[in-house]
Amino acid sequence: MSVDVVIPESESEAVEAYGDGSDITVIAGGTIVMQLLNYQRFEPSKVLLLAHAGMSYINMPVKEQGQNDGSTVTVGATTPLADLTVLASPLGACAANVADDEIRGQATLGGNLCSPAPPEHPSGDLQGALIALDAMVRSTGADGEKSEQIEDFLPHRSDRLALDVSFEPPASGAFAAFRRPHAHHYTPLAVSGATSADGTVRLGVTGAGDFGIRLNAAEAAADDPEAAGEASLTDVTMADDAIISGWYREQLLPTLVKRVLNEMKDGS
Ligand SMILES: Cc1cc2nc3c(=O)[nH]c(=O)nc-3n(C[C@H](O)[C@H](O)[C@H](O)COP(=O)(O)OP(=O)(O)OC[C@H]3O[C@@H](n4cnc5c(N)ncnc54)[C@H](O)[C@@H]3O)c2cc1C
Repeated sequence: MSVDVVIPESESEAVEAYGDGSDITVIAGGTIVMQLLNYQRFEPSKVLLLAHAGMSYINMPVKEQGQNDGSTVTVGATTPLADLTVLASPLGACAANVADDEIRGQATLGGNLCSPAPPEHPSGDLQGALIALDAMVRSTGADGEKSEQIEDFLPHRSDRLALDVSFEPPASGAFAAFRRPHAHHYTPLAVSGATSADGTVRLGVTGAGDFGIRLNAAEAAADDPEAAGEASLTDVTMADDAIISGWYREQLLPTLVKRVLNEMKDGS
């Protein structure tokens, strides 16, 4: 079967090639898609390779350079996770926790944000950090380009081409994950937290559903990390997968929430 491969050289060319997103497979770093293709889980008829689309950048809030509004960080969709590790927690720490140098050099923000919900294990750790940061996602698709909150974007991410994400730098942030002793591990469960300039605390978790989830009940109890940890269990329904059981995830979540909140308190 022949495959139509499109290699755009700019964001606008990528947007045009993506169109309404029907019958097109996006490949960014390929660390997820290439496995699926190699195991013949699907056969694409048209592929959009984003590697040369000029969508790898981090615009920091520096007013003088005139490239930014002075308060927002904007990260292009094909920015490799390795480049994100220099950013403040939770995003930097979360990116640094993904797999190893080899994967982080190849894997992109957009691929992580739009990773499908695999039955075997979670693979979108950055979703939790971006929820904690109250990030906006700019994307294109059938109804054209739009920017929306990450929680609104995640449920329909498979129908969109992510272009960039933006967020205000947090006043403080923290990340905690359950790790497995293997360089090529997938993160079974991770919690990200961020405090905004006005003191609002936001918490996101990955590994507790098909995509990242905001921990609303835990946030409401954020002043008391112990209580917030217990409350976090009401925000999620845990499931078993190939790497750990739902029961084990329930034991871990309160501890991770408590750790993140205590770290943010200590760091503020
Ligand atoms: C050994 C190993 C360990 C790993 N460990 C972890 C881990 O600990 N935590 C973790 O989170 N992930 C992990 N991953 C998964 C993966 O590497 C990351 O999620 C990575 O960020 C995916 O990015 P990518 O650019 O390679 O995605 P790709 O494979 O290119 O794409 C992934 C999905 O997103 C879609 N996509 C890509 N870019 C866009 C875009 N801009 N807009 C819309 N859709 C898009 C693709 O069509 C595909 O469905 C691991 C992978 C491997 C191989």
